[in-house]
Amino acid sequence: MTMRTVIEGCAIATVDAGGTEYRDGHLVIEDDRIVAVGEGSAPDEVGGAGAQRLDGRGHLATPGLVNCHHHLYQWATRGLAQQATLFEWLVELYPVWARIDAETCWAAARAGLAALARSGCSTSTDHHYVFPRDAGDLLEVEIGAAASVGLRFHPCRGSMDLGRADGGLPPDEIVEDRDAILAASEAAISRFHDPAPGAMVRIALAPCSPFSVTPGLMSDAAELARRRGVRLHTHLAETLDEERFCQERFGVRPVDYLDELGWLGDDVWLAHCVHLDEAEIARFGATGTGVAHCPNSNARLGAGIAPVAGLVGAGVPVGLGVDGAASNEDGGLASEMRASLQFARLAGGPQALTPRQALARATIDGARCLGRDDELGSLEVGKLADVALWRLDGLDGAGIEDPVAALVFGATQAVELLLVGGRAIVAGGQLRTVDEAQVAVEIARESKRLAARAEARV
Ligand SMILES: [Zn+2]
Repeated sequence: MTMRTVIEGCAIATVDAGGTEYRDGHLVIEDDRIVAVGEGSAPDEVGGAGAQRLDGRGHLATPGLVNCHHHLYQWATRGLAQQATLFEWLVELYPVWARIDAETCWAAARAGLAALARSGCSTSTDHHYVFPRDAGDLLEVEIGAAASVGLRFHPCRGSMDLGRADGGLPPDEIVEDRDAILAASEAAISRFHDPAPGAMVRIALAPCSPFSVTPGLMSDAAELARRRGVRLHTHLAETLDEERFCQERFGVRPVDYLDELGWLGDDVWLAHCVHLDEAEIARFGATGTGVAHCPNSNARLGAGIAPVAGLVGAGVPVGLGVDGAASNEDGGLASEMRASLQFARLAGGPQALTPRQALARATIDGARCLGRDDELGSLEVGKLADVALWRLDGLDGAGIEDPVAALVFGATQAVELLLVGGRAIVAGGQLRTVDEAQVAVEIARESKRLAARAEARV
């Protein structure tokens, strides 16, 4: 039986190619797709009898937000290493992360995904690269967690194979063998990757970073991803420490290192990219390489401000990422929208980025990074019904005439309604798929248990 939902009376920012907006519009959803969007009330032929009708007055409808970088397991280690640089922070946390197990990852993924849903995020990636021996299939665990919360999910099978004994940063106890990584990566694609339209789960491959992965694994992962038709992701140019590492070990800057390994292309998106020069920005544009911009994490670790205006000017798809919650305890995506705008303006003045560009970063450009812009990231007929409805008539937004300015400049707020494929994940400002209080109890318990295991070194 066909399910039809009509939302009327709201402002709508479609984020389509023409930037179409409606002051008082309608949105009609049939099953998991958008079948009408426009000004005024829904036409009778699509919004007629039998439809569920929602009153959108006082609200703004946008595409559901798309999160392009995360490490969900880190929700279990929030609030630690408070004054550390990236390398100091990693060295302090690696031994704790080495003790994660299925229970930790289940609780952390549900907490992280619940926070994302509350912040209007309908699609998230995750970059999971810590696989302790005997911890079981942690990728399967987080895919189950995403299904329980109800978000569209693009988990990356991450990896590390360059331990301290071989000149890498992570301790040897949490790196894996290269052949085992490639076998697990291929198995993950076979088991979980759904290439079909409307997919709820797609896999990408994501060796972790230049200082924790060998060049051989980078090349092999790229070959495997391209043979199996999945995307590639990694961290790049996050800090000057990483730049020094690449110059000392490989004799080149981080972007040259990736280029030599066949890692620039329109099937690749890279987290951070803070420290790029003009020529590197142009190469990203020419190759279609995407960037996951993570402003709050970069601020937390004092890493620097990514050259977003330059990247956008070069035609680079720049999506937003919250990054792991151990370097961004907020964990919400709507706040990244505002941070991306504020940081671009701190670096380049008030002309550097507009609120509408920030909204595009969080939606259609994120969908481009994940290779889903044909289905996600804008409110257009035929696209998936991933919709965020934001309340703007309360204290937070009332009186601001421009609804997009109210959303991006205004107080960061929880989404009122979040649809994923037409299904309500948040309604009335409350999570409908999971019990938020229960999720909080579980992650508090698991964070304590993990800390105790790390303390006891078991
Ligand atoms: Zn990261």
